[in-house]
Amino acid sequence: MSNLYKLFSFEETSFLEDHQLSELDVYDARFENKKLARKKAKNSNKQLIYGTPCIKHGHRLRTRAGHCVICDPTKLRFQQNYHGILFNPVENLRGLSNFYVAGSIDKKLIKVGISKNIEYRLKQLNVNQYAESNNWKILFTHWVSDPGETETKIKKSIEKFQIKDLFYFDQDGKYSEAKEVYNIKFSVLYRLFVQEIKEQGYTEIKTNWHYYKKLILKTFG
Ligand SMILES: [Zn+2]
Repeated sequence: MSNLYKLFSFEETSFLEDHQLSELDVYDARFENKKLARKKAKNSNKQLIYGTPCIKHGHRLRTRAGHCVICDPTKLRFQQNYHGILFNPVENLRGLSNFYVAGSIDKKLIKVGISKNIEYRLKQLNVNQYAESNNWKILFTHWVSDPGETETKIKKSIEKFQIKDLFYFDQDGKYSEAKEVYNIKFSVLYRLFVQEIKEQGYTEIKTNWHYYKKLILKTFG
């Protein structure tokens, strides 16, 4: 962990976690001129600035434009939306998680998970080289009211396809085991998924494809 992380208050750390951001998304502007810091943060693709405390509550996480993101989180969404990154209105506006399936094109492995911000998650998978691959694609997402439950059940049903001894660099830069990768045919997984959400009472399957379905089947079976 860097020094910056140690400076965050509990509230600031929670805010980052809730928005699936980490200290890597924060530019340390404590000792810099505001204008310069804003420019540098933008050029290094940092979403937030750690700067002077806000007047109301003393929070130090700010948008690049200088608004306190904890007092007004909509300012962050505005920034993300405006710059056309990390923002998916359906998935993110109300802070809802989606169930997703990702695939590593080079390793032909599948990952299942839930995320509030799928674009950001995809970026993370590749930057952190999840399961030693930097060629992840999101295959599909599907909204369910309890994504955690869906995730748990799907993982349970594909347990025997789990691959071990693959690693990645976690948020703190630590080399950790990737525990959510499976060597399973996509068609098998998808069938299990549809079955599961039907059992949960969903009558309509509204799969949000992020990658060409034909290509998914060709690549992952
Ligand atoms: Zn504040």
